[in-house]
Amino acid sequence: TEAYISAIEAARRLNAYIVETPDKAREMAKASDARLARGEARPLEGIPLGIKDLFCTEGVHSQAASRVLSGFRPPYESTVTANLWADGAVMLGKLNMDEFAMGSSNETSCYGPVINPWRAANSNADLVPGGSSGGSAAAVAAWLCAGATATDTGGSIRQPAAFTGTVGIKPTYGRCSRWGIVAFASSLDQAGPIARTVRDAAILLKSMASVDPKDTTSVDIEVPDYEAAVGGSIRGMRIGIPREYRIDGMPAEIETMWARGADWLRAAGAELVDISLPHTRYALPAYYIVAPAEASSNLARYDGVRYGLRVEGTDIVDMYEKSRAAGFGAEVKRRIMIGTYVLSAGYYDAYYLRAQKVRTLIKRDFETVFASGVDAILTPATPSAAFEVASMATASPIEMYLNDVFTVTVNMAGLPGIAVPAGLSADGLPLALQLIGRPFDEATLFRAGQVIE
Ligand code: GLN
Repeated sequence: TEAYISAIEAARRLNAYIVETPDKAREMAKASDARLARGEARPLEGIPLGIKDLFCTEGVHSQAASRVLSGFRPPYESTVTANLWADGAVMLGKLNMDEFAMGSSNETSCYGPVINPWRAANSNADLVPGGSSGGSAAAVAAWLCAGATATDTGGSIRQPAAFTGTVGIKPTYGRCSRWGIVAFASSLDQAGPIARTVRDAAILLKSMASVDPKDTTSVDIEVPDYEAAVGGSIRGMRIGIPREYRIDGMPAEIETMWARGADWLRAAGAELVDISLPHTRYALPAYYIVAPAEASSNLARYDGVRYGLRVEGTDIVDMYEKSRAAGFGAEVKRRIMIGTYVLSAGYYDAYYLRAQKVRTLIKRDFETVFASGVDAILTPATPSAAFEVASMATASPIEMYLNDVFTVTVNMAGLPGIAVPAGLSADGLPLALQLIGRPFDEATLFRAGQVIE
């Protein structure tokens, strides 16, 4: 704990932590020491973790990296973090992220961008760590915590893990409780870990996952010993390669990494099969209707009355407007506007309802493939390696949304997906592969992921 506290202080330039809680960390570590001395160690005894700012932590400032929640200290603890503390983990602080988890570069945070600890060969330019869990990924990669919590609505665990050479898993929708996690798009949001190895991710997910009466979408299904799956044989496993993920303009080095990953799995005894997920190309446009629609509804609660920021006005409506105008950043406002538009009378059937139908088709694509005996699907995690900071200024919102092309299908179908480091780009940056699994079969992803790692 002391080593991590010093490392965090020495690496403030990365802007990974937005709240440091060294006193709390020391107090928790002392309690862990006492337990260890008594031989009463719990599964995560004394393991120092960073917590994405999207998780409400009791008495500790929690604001989803948004000005609108400034000053908010939740009187309660999210179920996922409560599970981690109950297993003995130590809290180092709150991690930077895109505002309300909306973004792919961690540049929409009201605290400014996180810097990726990786640099390209022959360049001094700062790179993004990906988003929205950019602080989590950068902190793990830079050894500023042993592991971190993160959330994934459309790729926010897997894409930053890919950009930083770390491991990130989005479990099946319903595996972790969403209670106490600031809501973005409730039908897509899931918590999961970012860690340095597949084994660490397996250990952390075991503690994070639980059924919870406070989240009716959490599922009462046994959480297996994921760590036991790590190192297990993949002989006879059937792994699908979806032809629709071979998109136009994909860099050759991503293609090469994908083929190499397939070779590794084959060499370990898996059978590789070509598969088709025909509705893949509709996933991104459908996601960017469903996610903003749900966000516009979830974010209606930030009205200047209940939480955080209030800007006084001439009357209550004026106060709402001024608080929201000052509290939300540009990307969040864009999402709220898209969301209210696609949900409005006259447009609902044309956009929202249609996107929901597309979502069903995407889900069926996966069901058909898994019913045919495929155990897991192998794809690249992202269409590129990490890019330079200031991308928001140069890229259009749509270019930014294209980052999520390989990850959003998994959220739309509620499936588990893991991103595992699979080599380096020509200029020395991490590249990652994604494995997608059957509902509640994260164990297979850990088993196959470890072969790639
Ligand atoms: N980049 C996606 C978005 O901006 C995903 C975000 C997420 O998974 N939280 O919506």
